[in-house]
Amino acid sequence: METQDWYSVNNFAPGSYQITEGGRFNMLLLEGDEKAVAIDGGIGVANLRKLYESITDKPIDFILTHTHWDHVGAASQWDSVGVHPVGKDLIANDHSKLEQAFVNMWKNNGNAFPDWFDEDAYGIKPATFGWTLQEGDTFDLGNRKFRVYETPGHSPCSISLYDEREKILVSGDLIRCEEYLFLQVPTAVLSDYAPSLRKLEKVAAENEVRWITSGHTDPYPDPSIIGELAQNMEDLEAGKYDPPAKVDGGAWGEVDEYVFPRAKVWIQDHARK
Ligand SMILES: [Zn+2]
Repeated sequence: METQDWYSVNNFAPGSYQITEGGRFNMLLLEGDEKAVAIDGGIGVANLRKLYESITDKPIDFILTHTHWDHVGAASQWDSVGVHPVGKDLIANDHSKLEQAFVNMWKNNGNAFPDWFDEDAYGIKPATFGWTLQEGDTFDLGNRKFRVYETPGHSPCSISLYDEREKILVSGDLIRCEEYLFLQVPTAVLSDYAPSLRKLEKVAAENEVRWITSGHTDPYPDPSIIGELAQNMEDLEAGKYDPPAKVDGGAWGEVDEYVFPRAKVWIQDHARK
């Protein structure tokens, strides 16, 4: 496998790979009988496509769960990208400040890049819009069908996917099990968050979800977390929790932190409007 000393690969279900970039940024490669789908593109430090073509010889479509910089990294390695309509014009955004901040933070934290990495040449190239993915859409990789759900909250361009064959619920950055729900990001809207979780709770109730995946946590086997987080977020919105702790959110400045049994939440006031 062409991991380029940078990617790690977890074959967590049949024809299903979670690829992690730099130990932090997750992507998926899911294979059907006729083709495969690549979901999200990490931060684009290495050649993701080369890795994928060493895993599968089927044609690979590339799609995004949302358009944050740490998901679009390798998108330009494909000719066209499937994305929610809200993200259509965002896939060519200039993320150079964030990329540079990341490089500095990565090194300051004592982490390394691969030997061949040229940090001066590093940058996320604009990607090309290909097709939209929205509520009710379906696609089939050959004996492997997917359903698309609109799940804003972390970002208005966020979608989730349900894989009928392997019963994988792909949540993007919406459900980061036993980790941080990020509502301090500029695109977050608190009032959208719980309804999106309730929508996926219903998907889980009507199907036997086996894995929940996210952009920053490992495949999680217990779908009961979805309703639990929805309740947490509804209670947060209703003001049922004590005033949050103010903590240092690094690049985001000071953030409010809530601690729930199976997740923490970082949020800033802009998301509460
Ligand atoms: Zn995100």
